[in-house]
Amino acid sequence: MLSMNNISRVYRSETIQTHALRDFNLQVDAGEFVAVTGPSGSGKSTFLNVAGLLDEFNEGEYVLDGTSVKGLSDDDLSRLRNEKIGFIFQNYNLIPDYSIYDNVDMPLRYRGLSAKQRRNRIEHALELVGLSSRHSYLPSQLSGGQQQRVAIARALAGEPKVLLADEPTGNLDSLMARQIMDLLKTINKEGSTIIMVTHDPDQAREVNRNIQIIDGQITDYSIYAPVEQAPI
Ligand code: ADP
Ligand code: ADP
Repeated sequence: MLSMNNISRVYRSETIQTHALRDFNLQVDAGEFVAVTGPSGSGKSTFLNVAGLLDEFNEGEYVLDGTSVKGLSDDDLSRLRNEKIGFIFQNYNLIPDYSIYDNVDMPLRYRGLSAKQRRNRIEHALELVGLSSRHSYLPSQLSGGQQQRVAIARALAGEPKVLLADEPTGNLDSLMARQIMDLLKTINKEGSTIIMVTHDPDQAREVNRNIQIIDGQITDYSIYAPVEQAPI
């Protein structure tokens, strides 16, 4: 599904250069749920940004669902990102003055879907996260956990190949975090590939694989549990 070979990402300023990722190698199979852990500043966000085609890399090869990313134009990258990737952020990143319904509609614009197809996808995604009855609310009228469920619905509505989640429970209390983890696990069982950065070692133990990044490199594949169910 996703393959990185000897990826390097170097940030340069006049005085210093930082190797945020160095000789970074990772293969993620379809249907896996991978947790990414590591100290602050180790390269986790850079990895997610490169994986999600939000950031460039300097060296190496990245193949996303059969497409080699190197040398693609910005337009092609946007198209690929829109088609293949769903993002979930710590701060939900919902549009505050859009309704829940319109937030979930976001990735469906500019896709050439009919109004009916869009409506079906939005309704299905909201049903999956248990928020159908709130479709006309604004984000500020929902709890943090509910807002994150909207963000998950938005990501799923685009029917991505890979869900990239950057500390999706980082702003939630433990009960809501539990609900979000259960939801992500359900989505994964139904076939979605998920890569999640987390600070929570218990969460990292619950998924197929926990990779640890230190100083821009994978240092530890501490846990591996094979994918139970064939992906769709
Ligand atoms: P993490 O997500 O694990 O905290 P990051 O990927 O954010 O780590 O950062 C990895 C390293 O790259 C850090 O040393 C950080 O300071 C540096 N870095 C990240 N983004 C930038 C940037 N835009 N410009 C310069 N340095 C950066
Ligand atoms: P970064 O993206 O650079 O890793 P964060 O803003 O995510 O930085 O985290 C800042 C600090 O807060 C980190 O050192 C981390 O240990 C702590 N932290 C963030 N989220 C959590 C969390 N969900 N549980 C425990 N500690 C956390």
